[in-house]
Amino acid sequence: MTDTLDTPPEVRTGFTDRLGVEHPFGGAAAEAQVRSDDRNHVFHSWSAQAKIDPLPIAAGQGSTFWDYQGTEYLDFSSQLINLNLGHQHPDLVRAIQEQAGRLATIQPSMANDVRGELARRIAGVAPGTLNRVFFTNGGADANEYAVRMARRVTGRHKVLSTYRSYHGGTSTAISLTGDPRRWANEPSDPSVAHFFGPYPYRSAFHSTTPEEETQRALEHLESVIVLEGAATVAAIILETVVGTNGVIVPPPGYLEGVRELCDRYGIVFIADEVMVGFGRMGEWFAVDAFGVVPDLITFAKGVNSGYVPLGGVVISDRIADFFDDVAFQGGLTYSGHPLACAAGVATFDVFERDGILERVRDLGSRVVEPEITSWLDRHPSLGEVRGRGLFWALELVRSRETREPLVPFNAAGPDAGPMAEVAAACKSAGVWPFTHFNRVHIAPPLIITEEELRRGLAAIDAALTVADRYAS
Ligand code: PLP
Repeated sequence: MTDTLDTPPEVRTGFTDRLGVEHPFGGAAAEAQVRSDDRNHVFHSWSAQAKIDPLPIAAGQGSTFWDYQGTEYLDFSSQLINLNLGHQHPDLVRAIQEQAGRLATIQPSMANDVRGELARRIAGVAPGTLNRVFFTNGGADANEYAVRMARRVTGRHKVLSTYRSYHGGTSTAISLTGDPRRWANEPSDPSVAHFFGPYPYRSAFHSTTPEEETQRALEHLESVIVLEGAATVAAIILETVVGTNGVIVPPPGYLEGVRELCDRYGIVFIADEVMVGFGRMGEWFAVDAFGVVPDLITFAKGVNSGYVPLGGVVISDRIADFFDDVAFQGGLTYSGHPLACAAGVATFDVFERDGILERVRDLGSRVVEPEITSWLDRHPSLGEVRGRGLFWALELVRSRETREPLVPFNAAGPDAGPMAEVAAACKSAGVWPFTHFNRVHIAPPLIITEEELRRGLAAIDAALTVADRYAS
């Protein structure tokens, strides 16, 4: 057992960046102003406004960020799993600065060099004939537009998506979403129907092996298609690897089976790679790990680490060709914004120069997987560990035998207490964790050093002793 819980996080008054420039954090007065402006004027996402206390952040560098007290946090959440190249990456910052000096914005109906280059480079790594890119402002609108394309091309209206999914906060995207964030936003789009995806640890099909889970989940999906009326179904959308709802990696053969069902019934296959695209799983696109080619891939987050908002849809030739003569009815003032695209082009340069995909695979298989797997021997609260690349879930339970989650589904307030305690233990050890329901996810920036990765894992290992107190 490590002693990380007893080691106070490092406290500083500022930091020196890679260029040797010093950045003081600003102190108590600056912090008080940030807190006051935020509390009085900023309306926050997904929250009861009076019940939150957002932490003022003074600076970030690489895998680390600091609050105004100088408390240092190792970011094991990559912010919202978007900061794939870490804070203040010099290549991305420089690309944005240069682009701002050259041409800060240009409307989407004109051709632009960085927009075109980014689309070409995305097409160059996308599978199959996915050769064209429609740029959006983020992930939710990418899914909105992917669904719109599928409906137009098929002439059908219905869309099938899974329970335990998140597809974004806008109207169609939240309707597609299969988690509690949808509930308060209902009534949702009536042409969306939900089905169960595979989840071997908590199988909806009482499967006992991954193979059985694949077979039964595909039989279930085919039944849903038939019962909903195959001729009404425009698209099936799923997260290639389910992100927020559990880092659920599809068992062997499942995605191939979905592809086959889509072909059989003339349905468009949309892979939502907003969270798992651009290196998170050690591949450009997570579908590459399964050898499956969807018709549309949606992306955002990691495409430029969120330095400037950007998302999009990568489109197969078959669908893009349909719109050669039929106008595509959709658009955004900032589609393919040059500042965002310049950061995207720089992201490709960094990935290729620094071998980011190779290092994600290496750190995932050599460091993370063996380390967290070894925890199963000494943490009774650990039900299962799963993932790949630099994206892993620790599923915390009260009993390994019954698999009762450490906290109930969608728990809030005192019911969520044990998970809040685990998160607090991580933070007091200087690690900013990603927690959701009864799970801790491991999702650091892809540029994290091995020393930082091992340090963060040691802190989480120690924090699990808090969860162990609730487990039998
Ligand atoms: N799809 C997935 C899988 C996501 O994880 C998210 C955000 O977390 C979205 C879509 C929505 O993206 P955005 O918040 O950029 O609209």
